[in-house]
Amino acid sequence: SSPTVQDVLQRLQDADVAFLRLQFTDILGQTKNVEVPRTQFAKALGGDVTFDGSAVEGFTRVEESDMLLSPDLSTFLIYPQFSREETGGGRVARLICDVTLPGGEPFAGDPRRVLRTQLERAQERGFEMYVGTEPEFFLFERTAGGLGTTVTHDKAGYFDLAPIDRGERIRREIAGRLVEMGFEIEAAHHEVAPGQHEIDFRYAPALETADRIATFKFVVKRVALEHGLLASFLPKPMPGVSGSGMHCHLSLFRDGQNAFDDPDGEHGLSDTARQFIAGLLAHAEGMTAVTNPLVNSYKRLVPGFEAPVNIAWSTSNRSALVRIPAKRGNSTRAELRLADPSCNPYLALAVMLAAGLDGIEQGLEPPPAIARNIFKMTVREKRHHRIKDLPSDLREAVDELEKDEVLRAALGEHVMDRYLTAKRAEWREYSSAVHAWELDRYLDLV
Ligand code: GLU
Ligand code: MG
Ligand code: MG
Repeated sequence: SSPTVQDVLQRLQDADVAFLRLQFTDILGQTKNVEVPRTQFAKALGGDVTFDGSAVEGFTRVEESDMLLSPDLSTFLIYPQFSREETGGGRVARLICDVTLPGGEPFAGDPRRVLRTQLERAQERGFEMYVGTEPEFFLFERTAGGLGTTVTHDKAGYFDLAPIDRGERIRREIAGRLVEMGFEIEAAHHEVAPGQHEIDFRYAPALETADRIATFKFVVKRVALEHGLLASFLPKPMPGVSGSGMHCHLSLFRDGQNAFDDPDGEHGLSDTARQFIAGLLAHAEGMTAVTNPLVNSYKRLVPGFEAPVNIAWSTSNRSALVRIPAKRGNSTRAELRLADPSCNPYLALAVMLAAGLDGIEQGLEPPPAIARNIFKMTVREKRHHRIKDLPSDLREAVDELEKDEVLRAALGEHVMDRYLTAKRAEWREYSSAVHAWELDRYLDLV
């Protein structure tokens, strides 16, 4: 149960907190915060801190710019990593906030609210969504001047141990701080590429997982910086080596029981699971614009690097978009391998849930699971199995999103409109730039 305002005020005092951060996330996934000093704590907890919404990307027009931050008291935590020296004495705590209009109504452009709305829809059908996630990232060197590079600080590979993996210490420190903040970390390991790491979160209710992802990125970047490194969640920082994904393990529970599990069903899966998977596949093209939001995201979605390229599901193989890990019982889940860690976690989980619920509501039937490595199939074989491709670039994905009525309803007109506009502007900027590849390839040739 959520603490009361009095409880939080007491905890702020007991822990000698000097600054309280009120956090929220904008439509494009940037975490924002307004930091208030002690004298403002009571006002902040009462939801009476205003900010100028027009200053935040994708939020609002200038004429309706006053917004309120309404803290979700259940998200209270004290950051371990701020030293007393840094804050002039006292700790720093955070609360994640919902964004409301001056009259108190929820703001339609608040991504956290978009996710909540889908969770409420699920709840009307008796379902609660749980999500576990596996964000990957790179640790890079900085120049003497502190600028980021794409030079990796180690040469290790998958699951390697120190001393080859110089990032091990940093990774352990990140995990340690997250645990101190109450995160349940399942595992942390070196990933396939040099300088690439992964930290896995134990599954939790979807809203909690989205909140954690937002905080996680901030903690990773901060610890890396303390060691003079750059942590980057860019999906494909270097060509020819693995990119960084953020696989999401999705499951629905009903009355405390895993609703995907059915020992008598095909592959041990229930009808609910099959329909949910069918929904994910049916809306994959539009969903991609949200789960893979950058121009760069599409450079990860290429064959050969364990990132998905085609719309298919499998019970084993890592070339598929949706994989069903071997565990059943309460661990039965669908691993959607699509998202990358540059996405807005609230909107990404909202579109995944909306897609899955649509599959359930319409009783959709998934195509047969694919057991073979799809990367090795010919175009004809793929056509035979009716395996479609994921969008190949941001423009195609954005066009697909615009056409998807289920996802439009889930995001709401406000978010949909601002999102499409921002992403189309990003695409135009990219396509009018002249890239190094073009000069390498053509300058001398023509
Ligand atoms: N790095 C891969 C991706 O881009 C995933 C590797 C893995 O299976 O963990 O999705
Ligand atoms: Mg991984
Ligand atoms: Mg995985």
